[in-house]
Amino acid sequence: MARDIGSPSSLSAGLRCRCPRCGEGHLFQGFLKIADACEACGLKFDFADPADGPAFFVMSGVGILVVAIWAIWAVAAQPPIWAQFLVVVPALVGGCLATLRPVKAWLVAEQYVHKAEEGRWASTGAHGKAPEGYNPRGW
Ligand SMILES: [Zn+2]
Repeated sequence: MARDIGSPSSLSAGLRCRCPRCGEGHLFQGFLKIADACEACGLKFDFADPADGPAFFVMSGVGILVVAIWAIWAVAAQPPIWAQFLVVVPALVGGCLATLRPVKAWLVAEQYVHKAEEGRWASTGAHGKAPEGYNPRGW
């Protein structure tokens, strides 16, 4: 989908945690709370609802990466268990905290670019009525 002229890419806006339309205003109003609107261009962020997507992607990505490196390190170097906890637990927690904001901002920017929103059902007003000529029994 084509972007507006002057809009940052969704990845750029996400990594910088900025507004997906202008790339200037801050997206967050705290660590993970999304602001009401962009202070630069006025875009309302009420469309932004990545739900638990950022947490899932961050936990999966950081978990797989850290545990893979941990497994290689544990087998190759056989460090004492206290050293493993001293390195692995901060790596897991720090890795998740460091990447959660940009991943959430990136997903919000993707929602903006692709106009993603919750599905809505539109009634045709013919619920329960068979279409004209429909006869499943062949009578
Ligand atoms: Zn903006």
